[in-house]
Amino acid sequence: MTRVFVAGGDTLVGRALIDLLREQSAELVGVADGPDVTDAAATEAFFAVARPDVVFHCAGLSGGIGLNRAKPVELMRDNLLGTLSVLEAAKRFGVRKLVYLASSCVYPKHAPQPMRVESLGTGPMEPTSEAYSTAKFAGWKLCEAYRREYGCRFVTAFPANGFGPHDDFSSDGGHVIPALMRRAHDAKLRGDAELVVWGSGAPRREFVYSGDLARACVFVAEHYDAEAPINLGGGTDLSIAEVARQVAEVVGFRGRLRFDATKPDGAPLKALEAAPLLAMGWRPATAFRAALDETYNWFLRHRAKEGIANARPAL
Ligand code: GDP
Repeated sequence: MTRVFVAGGDTLVGRALIDLLREQSAELVGVADGPDVTDAAATEAFFAVARPDVVFHCAGLSGGIGLNRAKPVELMRDNLLGTLSVLEAAKRFGVRKLVYLASSCVYPKHAPQPMRVESLGTGPMEPTSEAYSTAKFAGWKLCEAYRREYGCRFVTAFPANGFGPHDDFSSDGGHVIPALMRRAHDAKLRGDAELVVWGSGAPRREFVYSGDLARACVFVAEHYDAEAPINLGGGTDLSIAEVARQVAEVVGFRGRLRFDATKPDGAPLKALEAAPLLAMGWRPATAFRAALDETYNWFLRHRAKEGIANARPAL
């Protein structure tokens, strides 16, 4: 049977991968007793005993603009160290297939939309997350180098914006969906008349449910083996205003939306070109609305009680 190791099992996609692989009755190694992958010796010792056949490398600290500004050193070191030790151990212990999850912020800031893998490395990256993205860029190039020099079957995947259970649901630090879900939920409990949405509401983003990203990773492990990276996209492309409307509906917030123009819009559109993945036959399985429902149900079970400052009890 195939032994599978998810490095970074505590990340959004890592968690979804572990859930999916459990459903598929895969033989998982290192779920509760995995190494700190920034420690090369511990990682090597783990691989020597656990002997995984397939590795999904999603490990590495990540965060929103706040963390990128405050902790570029920690973000870059954590990602570089983890990647150095996981890839080297995978080579040494003959891992059959490794899927490395890079990040869409490696794309040039002004790449044409939707972003095609051909644009990677053709221009400067977004400066606020440059330390983190440079580490991710290095991981992609290191996969390529192992493939060329040692014939390792390491592939790099660029995931679209994911959302789902286990996300960061803090109002200020989280990405748009979990942050709006938290604020809409608290606003409903307080009986607020309005929900503040950052920016104009006009920017468009592509969203993929984390369960679908996990399915795409497994699909890539099974069906894709080339030096060129592959985008994991094909999700739903929506304006932020539409996202906010749907989040409010799912949460049951009945007030109005107020767009706060003092907050930044960011890029007008961000989406990944997923044609190569779709041409191989992969499709996302979860409709956007159903994914929002699942995410909110998870939030209610696990996160709703945190941080409802000034909340009035729900009637
Ligand atoms: P980006 O894709 O890197 O810009 O990441 P975000 O997920 O942080 O933001 C996406 C878009 O959602 C931007 O246009 C934000 O202005 C907008 N937005 C609206 N409300 C919120 C919010 O509460 N939190 C965040 N993070 N973004 C929001």
